[in-house]
Amino acid sequence: LADHTMFHAKNMGRNNVQFFREIQGTVLDRENVLLQTRLAQAIQERQLQIFYQPVVDASTGRILSLEALARWHDDHDGWVPPDVFIPMAEHLGLIHELGEQVFEHALDRLRVWRQAGHEVKVAVNLSRAQLFAPNFVERLTGMIADQGLSPTDIILEITESVALLDVSYESRRLQELADSGFELAIDDFGTGYSGLAQLHQMPVRRLKVDASFTTRLHTEDGQRIVQAIVQMAQALRLETVVEGVENAEDARYLMQLGVRQMQGQLFGDPMPAGVCDMLLARQAAQRS
Ligand code: C2E
Ligand code: MG
Ligand code: MG
Ligand code: MG
Repeated sequence: LADHTMFHAKNMGRNNVQFFREIQGTVLDRENVLLQTRLAQAIQERQLQIFYQPVVDASTGRILSLEALARWHDDHDGWVPPDVFIPMAEHLGLIHELGEQVFEHALDRLRVWRQAGHEVKVAVNLSRAQLFAPNFVERLTGMIADQGLSPTDIILEITESVALLDVSYESRRLQELADSGFELAIDDFGTGYSGLAQLHQMPVRRLKVDASFTTRLHTEDGQRIVQAIVQMAQALRLETVVEGVENAEDARYLMQLGVRQMQGQLFGDPMPAGVCDMLLARQAAQRS
């Protein structure tokens, strides 16, 4: 994967986040409006790209699922980080259209991968607003059926802050999605304020431990915190994915805690679907 460093998260603009945050401030409000206009146009013209990042079984290296991540290359500003354009799309009411494009792309790829005999699932991120779209669940299940796929092949990731809002509308939608067969995952886990009891009531099958914890694994405090989070997930019998795994040392430590599913630069950055095709094919060839 070394030759895909051009898609490296850092190059993708982690450093730009601060820069764009400043743009979002009052000083450059006009710039901001222009960026919003270009984003609206990019979405309308379907110029956003969808990359995929593998979640692997760290003990075998096998790809278990692929997470769809939206990417936007703006003619003027270059790669704009999702941390900037996703909130912007939400603000502009364009997240429904964006989300639908991501979903279409992910379903299309999943169909191709399944036809090639790969057992992978795809994961798609959902924004809170998408849960409020009329007939949201029906539309999703309709799109899936059209492709000859099943909701059980799809993981829907919802950030902890959204998933645990104790608002009946959200919980009803989540329950509906779970009842339809989707596998729900709590994303960025550990960054919200969820209690065990609350988690236990959620129709959730997996937790994705936020990368901000993984990056502190080199400290003793960091290790203790990750251990506590993992134990909580295990007590609830939830599948645990740790994201942001960047080096072998952290991966080894996590394996000792009983974590198998990992995501991060050590195993692969988000990459174009064509690269995933090749990776999956190579894995299949190695197994047979
Ligand atoms: P997320 O769902 O938690 O996605 C994981 C983020 O971690 C991605 O950031 C990924 O590039 C980054 N990452 C992967 N490996 C590593 C690593 O080893 N170390 C570190 N430090 N980071 C790593 P990205 O692509 O910038 O996306 C940011 C967020 O934007 C995502 O966080 C997700 O919440 C949101 N997002 C992206 N695409 C979509 C989308 O299509 N719809 C919605 N609603 N949200 C999206
Ligand atoms: Mg995610
Ligand atoms: Mg995440
Ligand atoms: Mg995250």
